[in-house]
Amino acid sequence: MGKKEKIAILLDKLFVVKFLFYITKAYYGKHIRVVNYHSTPPFEAANFEAQLKFFQANYSSVSYKELEEFYKTGKWTKTKPGLIFSFDDGFRDNVDVAVPLLEKYGFKGWFFIPVGMIDLSSEEQKEFVGKNENRYHVEYKDGRYLMSWDEIKGLYNNHVVGCHTWSHHRMNINDTDEILTKEITLSKQLMENKLQKQISIFCWAGGEEHTYTNAAAKKIKESGYKFSFITNTFPVKSGQSPLQINRTNIESRNSLALVRFQLSLLMDIFYIPKRKRVSKLLTLE
Ligand SMILES: [Zn+2]
Repeated sequence: MGKKEKIAILLDKLFVVKFLFYITKAYYGKHIRVVNYHSTPPFEAANFEAQLKFFQANYSSVSYKELEEFYKTGKWTKTKPGLIFSFDDGFRDNVDVAVPLLEKYGFKGWFFIPVGMIDLSSEEQKEFVGKNENRYHVEYKDGRYLMSWDEIKGLYNNHVVGCHTWSHHRMNINDTDEILTKEITLSKQLMENKLQKQISIFCWAGGEEHTYTNAAAKKIKESGYKFSFITNTFPVKSGQSPLQINRTNIESRNSLALVRFQLSLLMDIFYIPKRKRVSKLLTLE
């Protein structure tokens, strides 16, 4: 358990975090929050379900159309604030574990896929999931750790899918135009060809400050994406750029205390300086 989680649990016991969470929700009013997960292994299913119960009590589901509508009208019409459940990296256990639970509690999942990784061999997939999730992974007997294209097609029909670069590339200032084209433009085309559908969501990989660049932001816009997700924790409110939608990291193993803490004003305030710097970097002329 990390230090942040221990502090969150202690403060939660003192009702500080619960109080902060409810104040935050009331303060933002009609808003949407975006959370991002990674792997959701079966041994964390019970904990993930407890999180879902909490989210169901406090938020309502957001479909792609509803996000579009929110940006168009600037209004969120459901009684509870919206919650976008996003899942990065295309883990197969999202399909097996997260999806049935999301559906049980009436939420849409938003799945962001590093599209070039889907067709890798099992050895290469194992290396990728090990690199990006260093905890225990389900040992799938057939050696496939990521979703298949058929599974992604199913998710497109019932949930939401987007592009999470070609090779899970963290953008950096040394990226050539060739790299940006592959990671941002060709990845979109590959996904559109495989699914025979239009893809209009991009999600940056990494999230560290040096992984955001103006050149990549420009390429994202030029490639025709409508929405782009970053990770500097903040609610989505009308008037914000749809190409700079912030998310808050949650994992299926996290306690409810940490979930509430992550979604509180305290964290929104903590991220102000980074959010400002990144937003300046990504804002186009
Ligand atoms: Zn990722």
